[in-house]
Amino acid sequence: MVKSRVVSFEGAGKVALRELDLKPDPNQVLVETFQASICGTDKLLYSGEIPEAIKLPIIPWGHEGGGTVVAVGSKVCGYAVGDRVMSFGPGTYADFFLSTVPYGCLPVPDDVEMDVACLGEPLSCAVHASQLVSRSTEVGDRVAVVGAGFAGQIISQGIKKGGAELVIVLDLVDTKLDLAKRLGADIVVNPKKENAVKAIMDLTDGRGVDVVVEASGSGSGLNMASAIVRHNGTIAIYSHYMKPFMVDMYRWHEDALHIVHTCLMHHTKEEMAVWVRDAFRLVKKGLFEIKPLVNRRYRLSEISEAFERELSDKTSIKTAIIP
Ligand SMILES: [Zn+2]
Repeated sequence: MVKSRVVSFEGAGKVALRELDLKPDPNQVLVETFQASICGTDKLLYSGEIPEAIKLPIIPWGHEGGGTVVAVGSKVCGYAVGDRVMSFGPGTYADFFLSTVPYGCLPVPDDVEMDVACLGEPLSCAVHASQLVSRSTEVGDRVAVVGAGFAGQIISQGIKKGGAELVIVLDLVDTKLDLAKRLGADIVVNPKKENAVKAIMDLTDGRGVDVVVEASGSGSGLNMASAIVRHNGTIAIYSHYMKPFMVDMYRWHEDALHIVHTCLMHHTKEEMAVWVRDAFRLVKKGLFEIKPLVNRRYRLSEISEAFERELSDKTSIKTAIIP
């Protein structure tokens, strides 16, 4: 048993550090956190977009991260003290977290550095999305990515390497667009500064993009995706929206759009494990620039400041939380 500081999410604008005694159940491992990171959905929750299905408080909070196994439950097979793991379950904003085996965490693949492995969940979700989109992209296709956060940055890198002719990235924050461009996007568009629909129609002979990936997490992002995709084009939805919103379903029907969800986490656990392994196969080939995406770091004791800054200053792509 260890004492661990853990973060409790108690409602809009409210996080608190608490202390819990953690002891692994027979089917759990106890992990000492190396690094956690803030998910876009956590920012939405903190900003007050809290689905009714979610019961408060959420404790222990945080699902992205990883670390080293320090104790194993009596029925655990396949994990030993000292193993490096990446988290796919709750509790990572903490000194230590408990993971239920076999799918609450997965082993870190050989030769992957720990700071990259600790991004395992968001990284494999985004790499998987780029694989899915690339599979439905044809030679000469023009593809847009709405949202240049962590996922949008990984997805735009992946689909560019997957053969899209033109990759256009949209975001409201110029520094994120600059990075997307540096990492391989052909064209970047800031809808705050120009008429994005017109810009994209001009780039695509008035047709709209063949495929658009929605990775902004907002209703306005999905409506932007709906406005810039061509007749019979594809909207690939990466985002996990926290609140209901209005969508232009008239256009979806009239233009017979294809709607795809790229979600990795919410299929079977077995598929999740296979897709994560496959995503890391690409990561290990060096196909993605990952480190420049972590552009903010906080200590666990600064968790309130970290979240306040996420809301007031939108330039973070991925914020790491270090115990
Ligand atoms: Zn996440």
